[in-house]
Amino acid sequence: MQGVVVPPKNKVFGFFLCPPPSWLARTDPRDVARVESRTVLVTDRERDAIPPKPPGGGPQQLGNWMSPAAFEQAVQERFPGCMEGRTMYILPFSMGPVGSPLAKVGLQLTDSPYVAASMRIMTRVGPQTFPALARDDFVRCLHSVGQPLPSLGGFGGPLPTLLILGVTDPAGKKRYVAAAFPSACGKTNLAMMTPALPGWRVHCVGDDIAWMKFDAEGDGGRGPFPVGGAGPGGPGTLGFSWPWWPQCDPQPCAHPNSRFCAPANQCPIMDPAWEDPEGVPIDAIIFGGRRPEGVPLVYEAFNWRHGVFVGSAMRSRRLMHDPFAMRPFFGYNAGQYLAHWLAVGEREGARLPRIFHVNWFLRDGAGRFVWPGFGHNARVLAWICSRVAGEDNAETTPVGLVPREDALDLDGLPGVSYGDLFPVSRPFWEKEARELRRYYEENFGEDLPKEVMGELSALEERVKKM
Ligand code: GDP
Ligand code: MN
Repeated sequence: MQGVVVPPKNKVFGFFLCPPPSWLARTDPRDVARVESRTVLVTDRERDAIPPKPPGGGPQQLGNWMSPAAFEQAVQERFPGCMEGRTMYILPFSMGPVGSPLAKVGLQLTDSPYVAASMRIMTRVGPQTFPALARDDFVRCLHSVGQPLPSLGGFGGPLPTLLILGVTDPAGKKRYVAAAFPSACGKTNLAMMTPALPGWRVHCVGDDIAWMKFDAEGDGGRGPFPVGGAGPGGPGTLGFSWPWWPQCDPQPCAHPNSRFCAPANQCPIMDPAWEDPEGVPIDAIIFGGRRPEGVPLVYEAFNWRHGVFVGSAMRSRRLMHDPFAMRPFFGYNAGQYLAHWLAVGEREGARLPRIFHVNWFLRDGAGRFVWPGFGHNARVLAWICSRVAGEDNAETTPVGLVPREDALDLDGLPGVSYGDLFPVSRPFWEKEARELRRYYEENFGEDLPKEVMGELSALEERVKKM
């Protein structure tokens, strides 16, 4: 978050048109998106924030807790005088259209012009938020560049990593899909996709941050919600996701740690409903990870409860566990978070989205990706839409429902074989289940809902019978 204001340098940045009064903020290469070990939840009781550590277990991976007194002390140690001599910005902001039941209002204090400018891109800053402030219905956020503790105050870093896209089939039927992938697992590329399947169209409702709520009629799964800005995750996204961005080769145009944010309304494929305060109705939820082996290209959960289990079992790059892609963002005890998802499934009359898991990153023996990915992921979206439409085109495996061989469109993809895309092997899933059980025990302990443990046992039983 430490922005350094420097004049534009024509040599390197010549292709960015920067007429005055533009200014350029460059992030420090030592910056990272957010420091997890310095992200804390402050509650009276530790149990409300994180599951208790089991005796002899490793470090708790599901968050860090601080008492209000310790937090107050940490603030007092760092903040007095830290803004001296700087301009303090007071930013009343709304994430989501102002007044929408899906929006969240906050009041951010910062002494960084870079943060002030970025907040105006990513959120809606202005007096429209005053009614919420007057109702005392807002989140307090404090930021200073004086001491590198980026998220002490609340909304310091990015929030839940969810994207929402609209998928329109060749007949014109549109469906909305939410996806939660851990960092660097392809969210932005999916949200900005150009489908490589004739007749299909994809529109972006939001990338990176979304909320879901039931709508007023309790008409299940309606109303995920985008914030006002799409933030591409890094230079890896530039070439693919932002086709209008100038090609930077051969000179790297940014450090891998740098982050960009651009106003969403400048993105040519924003969905017409992206600012609808009502939100858009969600038909499917996709979880995903980066798994080089063993995890099929796509599978559907048997039911909601199994879907919650699938979300809790997500793993990302370097095989890190990342339940619901929320591990760094749980605002309260992660066990209660899972219980909340289970409770959503029990809701009377709810029309629940179907739940899927995808893996674009399977590799063959030579280390090559077996799936072309990117625009071709539309083929997987097409199958997901067919499931939402109620088509009977899935096959049952111990892990979940996979497309029948004739149900996934592989036309025009020579060398891509169905068999490579849907590996389901007993040794792999035995090991996976074993590791998951240990992860649950060491991190959730007795706060893991029994239904989720039940789903793990059921998976183990099905795998045993393979
Ligand atoms: P995000 O952090 O979740 O938004 O992920 P990005 O969309 O920025 O992608 C992260 C990395 O994964 C980039 O290097 C992409 O090129 C790569 N990537 C994204 N989608 C695919 C895909 O479908 N297949 C493959 N092989 N790589 C992908
Ligand atoms: Mn991204």
